[in-house]
Amino acid sequence: MTDNLKKTKKETKRSSLIWRWVSVLALTIVVSFVVFSVIIYSTVSQQTLTQQEEVSNRVIQTLDQQLSPISGELEISNVVPALSPSTRRILNGGPNIKDDSVSSGSAFSDDLISSISNPDINVAVYNKHNEIVFSNGDTAPTFHPFQGKTKVEKSITKHGTVLNTYHKIVSNKTKKVTGYIVVTNSMTYYNHIMKYLLRWMLMISAVAIIVFTLISFLIVRDVVKPIKEISKVAREVNEDPNSTVRITDYHRNDELGDLVNSFNQMLDRMQRYIDQQKEFVSDVSHELRTPVAVIEGHLNMLERWGKEDPEILEESIKASLQEADRMKHLIQEMLDLTRAEQINVQYPNAITNVNDVLKRVTSDMAMVHPDFNIQLDIDDLPADTKIQIYQGHLEQILVILIDNGIKYSTDRKQINVSAGVTEDKIHIIVQDFGEGISKEDQDKIFNRFYRVDKARTREKGGNGLGLSIAQKLVESYHGEISVDSVVGQGSQFNIVFPVLSAQDIKRLEEKSNQNEDK
Ligand code: ADP
Repeated sequence: MTDNLKKTKKETKRSSLIWRWVSVLALTIVVSFVVFSVIIYSTVSQQTLTQQEEVSNRVIQTLDQQLSPISGELEISNVVPALSPSTRRILNGGPNIKDDSVSSGSAFSDDLISSISNPDINVAVYNKHNEIVFSNGDTAPTFHPFQGKTKVEKSITKHGTVLNTYHKIVSNKTKKVTGYIVVTNSMTYYNHIMKYLLRWMLMISAVAIIVFTLISFLIVRDVVKPIKEISKVAREVNEDPNSTVRITDYHRNDELGDLVNSFNQMLDRMQRYIDQQKEFVSDVSHELRTPVAVIEGHLNMLERWGKEDPEILEESIKASLQEADRMKHLIQEMLDLTRAEQINVQYPNAITNVNDVLKRVTSDMAMVHPDFNIQLDIDDLPADTKIQIYQGHLEQILVILIDNGIKYSTDRKQINVSAGVTEDKIHIIVQDFGEGISKEDQDKIFNRFYRVDKARTREKGGNGLGLSIAQKLVESYHGEISVDSVVGQGSQFNIVFPVLSAQDIKRLEEKSNQNEDK
């Protein structure tokens, strides 16, 4: 199968989530209602039918009681008097037997009369030759041969369900079949109830199905709407990564609300990364342009006149090497900056003793810059103060700050480094007495490639990346860095880190051991 064909097949299979969910819900609702209705209907039907069967049986029993004493052939002449002298009267709408003064009071009961006078009940008595000998209705129930003593049969007519009961009359004396009783119960009450029930059930089911389907549609649509929008926004951002479209905030306090917020935050973050990336590339190319231009200039000069002139040759080679060195330094700093942005992942459980690092860095710097007086004041710092940072990174931060203090110093060649602990924080201060930084510039010096005086800083070998690296490192370890400075008097850089408690140290050591085991 070709890719295209596969694609079209996939596309045709695609269906809306709303319709899929709504159809499933609607189907569930319909099936539930049908099952529920069938159960109710058949239970009511069964109950009412049993009642009606009992009515028919009672009639049969009563007639059988009256007819089984007859031992000979059943004929109108013996059946009708047996059933009652007043039966016909009652059937013809005469008074009840109890009101009748002529009542014999023994041969037949109230049962018989009430049974036969029930308008639902049609009775017929047949003799052995299938000839009708008694009937109470206009249309006598028809007889057909049957097996056993009694047979109950349901039939559907245009007026509804009818219950036919057939019974063999056996003579008490001869024990022989003398005839048959056929009772037809037209079950008006049953048919009425069932019709009524069916109608209401259909109506309620239809309304309920419509209402529930509508409600489920609204609920599903409410759920699917943000999903659809997420998908639309994702598509748009995919097509144009710079797009500023975001998902509408539905102010929902549920999982979907969380998803929308996280998705928007993720897009914002991605956007920030893209912007940073673009900025970085443009900054870097801008920064590299100058040294490359300088080297190119010198090489051109060498090509034109320098080959023969040893003075130009030496000067150009020296300058080019200097620029190449600066470029190397710049590339290293850019790498440091990029790495500083990913610290947490690399050294999540590192612990460092601040005293040791402060002592080592200040003495190393003092050795490299013998003309400077680098003072360390750690009287207020407990000897075992530990913070969560990779040792090399704390060293790097301190070197950047001390190096800046040295680079931007004036007459007074002194750097003071001090540290102390207040509550659960350690404060490290690097102070110089150099040129200082104006208030306006203090806000910008932590920005990438920012230099207060571009030309002069370049002379001193600065790329404007040192403080950005220091800030990224400090913040990666949940610290803060700030500056206080007065132009002409000097600057003071303050770093604050949370001090690790004994518990924190134990936890981090355990974690780091676990990682090593892995
Ligand atoms: P650079 O490598 O150029 O020194 P930084 O990011 O370390 O870059 O510093 C940014 C700018 O902030 C510097 O160019 C300088 O102008 C200013 N600056 C930094 N530290 C000091 C300081 N201690 N005294 C005066 N100015 C400073």
